[in-house]
Amino acid sequence: MLQFAPNIREQTKGGRVKEIQIGSARNHHMKYWSLERKESITPPIQFNELPDLRGQSANLATFHFELSGLAFTIAVYEFSNHIFVIVLHDYDKGRKYQLVLDEIAEIEQVYRPTEKEPPGLKGKELVYTLIRTTSWCGMTSNRLRYDLIRVDECFKIPDTPSINSSDVLYETSQNWIDNTGRPIVDYDIYDNVVEKVEDEEYHKKVVRLLPKEGSEELMALNFVRTKMIPGFNAYDQIKKDLNVLKHKCKDCETVASGYEEILTVFGVSFEGKKPKARETCKKCK
Ligand SMILES: [Zn+2]
Repeated sequence: MLQFAPNIREQTKGGRVKEIQIGSARNHHMKYWSLERKESITPPIQFNELPDLRGQSANLATFHFELSGLAFTIAVYEFSNHIFVIVLHDYDKGRKYQLVLDEIAEIEQVYRPTEKEPPGLKGKELVYTLIRTTSWCGMTSNRLRYDLIRVDECFKIPDTPSINSSDVLYETSQNWIDNTGRPIVDYDIYDNVVEKVEDEEYHKKVVRLLPKEGSEELMALNFVRTKMIPGFNAYDQIKKDLNVLKHKCKDCETVASGYEEILTVFGVSFEGKKPKARETCKKCK
């Protein structure tokens, strides 16, 4: 197992400090930098769920992020054969997004080499990942859900890409194009990067494509973009729009006050864009 630093803020040495704001919320303006790389380390025990990586060591690239008083790190593990696993590695405890961060810390995102050349990107050495965006599902535990998306659901991606005439997503946000205007992140659908779609669930779902070499920083940034920012947005909206100070259960005497307690005791779901506390508490459900 990895040993986490006792205080994330002590890990301050690393690469050049950069800034990025993903999506439109100004409180999501972040500073970030890379930390020291590590070679041939033992990955976290949770990776044993990925059978083809079991028992393998990996190289580790870590990126430290800070936004409005919150610090967290994203880890990019590189295994042999260009397989990458990205996780939320560590984060400040007891701060506002803890509910979101605790759940995101349990998931992994995997990139693998493409099995065939996507039509628009011939001759490039690429890795792909299926895109799952975070949404709020309203349970009192496991509040977040990760949805695989189709091209027509790309509005769920912060800094939403555009769709070209061949129905392929392309980046237009300054965050994801270089200074000559070329995208630094590409997209296609799953069917165009694997030989055979075994799992119906993945059919026609969007994949992100990055160069095989040197993409660790983009992997970390895009993990923040699709997994964390939508979770932060939903949390911010609940905090702002859940105009209930005290909420009482329809079927028992349980009362919760404030949005954090309501989130934990009742759960909050979205009706369109409006957050709404569930009518019954978690005991009565
Ligand atoms: Zn109740």
